[in-house]
Amino acid sequence: MAYTLSVLIDASGRINFGHTYARYAKAASHSDRTRAGHIQVIARIAGWLVVCASAAAAQQQKPRVHLVATGGTIASTNYYSDQGGKIGVADLLRAVPAIDSIASISTEQFANLASSMITPSHWLALSRTIADTLRARPELAGVVVTHGTDTMEETAYFLDLTVQDARPVVVTGAMRPADGIGIDGPANLYNAVRLARDSGAVGRGTMVLLNDEIFAARDVMKSNTVRPDAFAAPYRGALGVADPERIVFHRTPVRAPRFDIGAVRELPRVDIAYVYSGADGSAVDAFVAAGAKGIVVAGVGRGGMTGPMREAVSRALNKGVIMVIGSRAGSGSVPVGAGVRRGSDAPATIGAGDLPVQKARVLLMLALTRTSDPREIARIFAAHQ
Ligand code: ASP
Repeated sequence: MAYTLSVLIDASGRINFGHTYARYAKAASHSDRTRAGHIQVIARIAGWLVVCASAAAAQQQKPRVHLVATGGTIASTNYYSDQGGKIGVADLLRAVPAIDSIASISTEQFANLASSMITPSHWLALSRTIADTLRARPELAGVVVTHGTDTMEETAYFLDLTVQDARPVVVTGAMRPADGIGIDGPANLYNAVRLARDSGAVGRGTMVLLNDEIFAARDVMKSNTVRPDAFAAPYRGALGVADPERIVFHRTPVRAPRFDIGAVRELPRVDIAYVYSGADGSAVDAFVAAGAKGIVVAGVGRGGMTGPMREAVSRALNKGVIMVIGSRAGSGSVPVGAGVRRGSDAPATIGAGDLPVQKARVLLMLALTRTSDPREIARIFAAHQ
């Protein structure tokens, strides 16, 4: 039976329902028609409420993921000009409408910076924000962080070492800007959310996802300046991949106990000194004079140094500076050792293991918040291999 309803709000603000119930239009009395109209309106409202309720229920059933945006190329426009622009977290999501079908996303604009501008103070604040959010929201499946790729590995490793919650933190970004051609940001963000909501990701710590590849924060390095496949874990390999059908894990990362940064207001100064042919000890001496509590040396090969640099390292050790020796080779290890010379209590250098020097710096900064005993710091480095 055809039925037409019209709603009219008159000048005095009264709502008038008009309707035609085709078969009875002529015969029915005015009050019958009004009643039928009201029933129709109630039915429509009820229908609308059912639709809303089922949409809300569907939304509730979707895994919940929190997205924290910090900036980087993924949030940049006009990147290769001197008039670069930025987009915010809402626009990042708008570029990936399909995300809506896989997760219910809450967002936070933590910063909008190139990652070269991210400092150790940002690490502390970001780690706390993530930890607080996970604590306050038990319903969250995980957290995604968007970040510039240049120093992503350092921020990701810091988060890996400090966020205690077993739920995954996934750090992603893009090698191509938001308004580029063949951009990778939307696919990376989509896959990062897939990974963050995947039950297999629980307990694997902070991971980095770009170009469909999943890396342990500890192992990953940016290894190319522009290509979308810039990220690699040269020594240990990837953790898994984001295949179109499912998230695949090849292995579980090595994870030592986390650092509690609850009482840490500032991270101690730790610098990196690079070894090269003919290098003297000026850089090491200057870092000591500037107040470094620790120095990581990017040695040649398996931690080699020039003679003058070795002397500068001895001077630093005698002043109580913790010296960690890594390699500039990009892959391979420098044995950790015991932190003191054999048969004496004199401090010795500590090997970085297979941690790249920028990661060894992060670990040393955190280790120094606990102790300045080289023996104990050597034990911490050994535990993180
Ligand atoms: N310069 C950018 C950054 O690290 C590079 C990137 O995000 O890819 O913020």
